[in-house]
Amino acid sequence: VGTFDRLDLRHDFPGLLDGNGVDWHYLDSAATAQKPQAVIDAIARAYGVDYATVHRGVYERSANMTLAYEAARRTVAHFIGAASDSEIVYVRGATEGINLVAQCWAGEQLKAGDRILLSMLEHHSNIVPWQMVAEKAGAQVDVVPLTADGKIDLDAMAAMITPQHKMVALAHVSNVLGSVLDVRRAADIAHSVGAKILIDGCQAVPRLAVDVQGLDCDFYVFSAHKLYGPTGIGVLWARQELLDAMPPYQGGGSMIDKVTFERTTYAPAPTRFEAGTPHIVGVVGLSAAIDYVQAIGLDAIHAHECALAGKARSALEKLNSVRVFGPEDSAGILSFEVEGVHPHDVGTILDETGVAIRAGHHCAQPLMRHLGVEATARASFGLYSDEGDVDALVKGIERVRKIFG
Ligand code: PMP
Repeated sequence: VGTFDRLDLRHDFPGLLDGNGVDWHYLDSAATAQKPQAVIDAIARAYGVDYATVHRGVYERSANMTLAYEAARRTVAHFIGAASDSEIVYVRGATEGINLVAQCWAGEQLKAGDRILLSMLEHHSNIVPWQMVAEKAGAQVDVVPLTADGKIDLDAMAAMITPQHKMVALAHVSNVLGSVLDVRRAADIAHSVGAKILIDGCQAVPRLAVDVQGLDCDFYVFSAHKLYGPTGIGVLWARQELLDAMPPYQGGGSMIDKVTFERTTYAPAPTRFEAGTPHIVGVVGLSAAIDYVQAIGLDAIHAHECALAGKARSALEKLNSVRVFGPEDSAGILSFEVEGVHPHDVGTILDETGVAIRAGHHCAQPLMRHLGVEATARASFGLYSDEGDVDALVKGIERVRKIFG
């Protein structure tokens, strides 16, 4: 797929070899991405010669670690086009980011009779936190339908949104279908009734250039581990005035201004939302991951993964017992079904041929119901994927068809 292949990035990723040093066709990057050596090295240094706590130490090593921790916040802010570092809150991952907004924004704002708007293709982590807070407030959750090719139907959204809708929460890229949302248009629709909009950027941040101000959303979340960084760390971005008005998420060390038994006052955002000793090394690893993808360029990564997904789609569609779900212009994630074969069997047979895919409901049970299936097989690409992976996938599916006659 053009010049990008020739960069030979696979050598940067030790995880792309199997235990015997043999090339492995890893097509599960939407679940979690393999890590480049630069990220692994940054993590090893942070746990090794650089290791110390942040914010409290009076000694030089801790002061340096604090500088690295806060420099990473600036790296993240630049990466997603935030107006300021102080709009970046470190969280455990997208799941925690959404729960934080659900509890600290929606939990404060929602009243009985208010409504929340989600879509049919959301991940459970962008459904359940809203249901929990809606139930408490006596609010209602509504669902935007999908177009025939599996995109969030923004015409339908425009027709169904009301002034009772206070929050809209949508995925930027579907983890099942790869459908890309026109965030700017969705934000305009949400804002037309005065609602806030949260974008689940888990699958978008590793695949597209993201500019939160240009997108005009209010909240944006993502996880580092899908962006070639470590697990256990992620980002919530929110407009400064929204963060400033939100109460703390958890109480504890670091997030305070002054504590007495009579009364505690809180630190300003983002510190107010970061109680306890943070995932220091995770933050260093996230920063290294951002440096890595920026050196390649998100536009190049996007073009590369779209091309691979397009090639895989047309090859799979030629096998006439395979049905591929989702839009033609998937951002590198393909769900499919092999007629008469359970996706788990597809996954197991592919595994025997050195191809790793995911089979299941992908934490999107409402979408499975909408597609009329229990589960799908899903192949998802990363920046290190190549045509050899597509060929191995197609060969593996041919073998599945042979075995199942
Ligand atoms: N949203 C989407 C679209 C996802 O793909 C995922 C991870 N599969 C999540 C949210 C949740 O991310 P995490 O488990 O890292 O918190």
